[in-house]
Amino acid sequence: MTPWSRASIRVRLTTWYTAVLCLMLVVYATATFVAVRHEFFEQLDDQLHDDFETAEGLLAPAADGRIVWSGDRRHDPDNDEDRGTDVWSASGEQIYRSGASASLPPAAVAATTAQVRYESIIADSQHWRTLTGTSLVGRAVVLRVSRSEERLRGQLWEVLIVLVLGLPLVVVLAGVGGYVLARRALAPIDHLASEARRITADRLHERLSVPNQHDEIGRLAGVINETLARLESSFDQLRRFTADASHELRTPLSVIRGIGEAGLAETRTTAEYKEVMGSMLEEVDRLTNLVDTLLRLSHGDAGTVRLSRQAVDLGQLTRDVVSSLGVLAEERQQRLTVNAVDDVSVTADRLVLREAITNIVDNAIKYSPQASTIDIRVHAEANRAVLSVADHGPGIAREHRERIFDRFFRLDAARSRDDGGTGLGLAIARWAVEANGGQVSVDDGPNGGAIFRIVLPLDAPILSNVPPHATTTIGGHS
Ligand code: ADP
Repeated sequence: MTPWSRASIRVRLTTWYTAVLCLMLVVYATATFVAVRHEFFEQLDDQLHDDFETAEGLLAPAADGRIVWSGDRRHDPDNDEDRGTDVWSASGEQIYRSGASASLPPAAVAATTAQVRYESIIADSQHWRTLTGTSLVGRAVVLRVSRSEERLRGQLWEVLIVLVLGLPLVVVLAGVGGYVLARRALAPIDHLASEARRITADRLHERLSVPNQHDEIGRLAGVINETLARLESSFDQLRRFTADASHELRTPLSVIRGIGEAGLAETRTTAEYKEVMGSMLEEVDRLTNLVDTLLRLSHGDAGTVRLSRQAVDLGQLTRDVVSSLGVLAEERQQRLTVNAVDDVSVTADRLVLREAITNIVDNAIKYSPQASTIDIRVHAEANRAVLSVADHGPGIAREHRERIFDRFFRLDAARSRDDGGTGLGLAIARWAVEANGGQVSVDDGPNGGAIFRIVLPLDAPILSNVPPHATTTIGGHS
């Protein structure tokens, strides 16, 4: 991990911001300096051009052949220390000079054409700007006007100092400002982090405060709160599950212990011992069954169950289940009717789906009164296959309809346990159906009682409902 990635967002933001600002300011300052310099030199060149024209107009040949300043003395640059005028004859002999241009080298007369020429010259460590051109002062001469660049350079230097000194100052001020702003903007995140740190596993009911749910931090706090709510409910479920599982495991163990103690309390005949051991084994079976179911559910949760999915005829599978459970219904003089459309094919793991149907039909038998009817229907609707099991039992109150599929949830624990129920049948059924891409739900039955529905994606969607093909009835009372 680099020190950069270890730095806080605040520091990284400020650094980025300052670096970008610095770059922008350097570009801006450079552009400003170049523009100002260009403007200054343009002004100087304009002044030289004016000087040139003035000199052309006011220099005239004297009677003795010399060139003299004939015009207004105000324009004579003779007394100026920062400008000068020089004239050379065509043969290169200097014939006039005034002002402070003495230190300047003579103009290269031969090279001078009719074109005027601007030049920057350094003489005696002084910068000069000159304008040289040919002119007619009585005769053809070379005229050069010059102005010192020193003042202009001084001004440019001042501009440069302002820019160079101002730049770090602005950057430092902006950096400090940026840091303070970033700190203020990110302070709620620090606050959020310290609040979140406070919420440990045993304080999962607490929530983060959301000062403004519309801004980014408010939305983040909202998402964390939703996650906390889900965590809390998972923790609750886990706690309930552990408590319920221990309770369920303890019951058969205490029964085994009770039977064993009662068996040992007095001397018995071999037949009596066999009976005691038989009862104990029954409880052991119950225990084994419970542990197996729990293990399967936990494999289901972990997603380690390998499903072998294939085309399954739902009607056929339902008839198989009903015929194997028929004996239970017969014991209770119940009538199981199966109304199944042919060729309702779904892609599912046959054994897993069979278990779901078995658990639901088994419940219908267990919780319906004796000599009642249980109607099982299999049909297809658009792109779904629907299996429904309707009984005439007590039904399931609306408030329990979701929880009934939870592990160990029972409406009447004593009765269910007496009937051999573990409270896991519907949990397994839900897992089995969902693992096959379907859904299971419960509703009020058409004739009272409950109706459980398993809905699965249909292999070949149909366009209209096909009438039931076969009705099977098992058991019954006369
Ligand atoms: P159990 O092993 O107790 O049957 P299940 O998970 O299969 O566990 O069912 C959970 C509870 O739902 C049962 O204890 C029972 O109270 C209720 N229940 C399930 N099916 C029916 C039904 N067809 N009619 C009424 N109650 C039912």
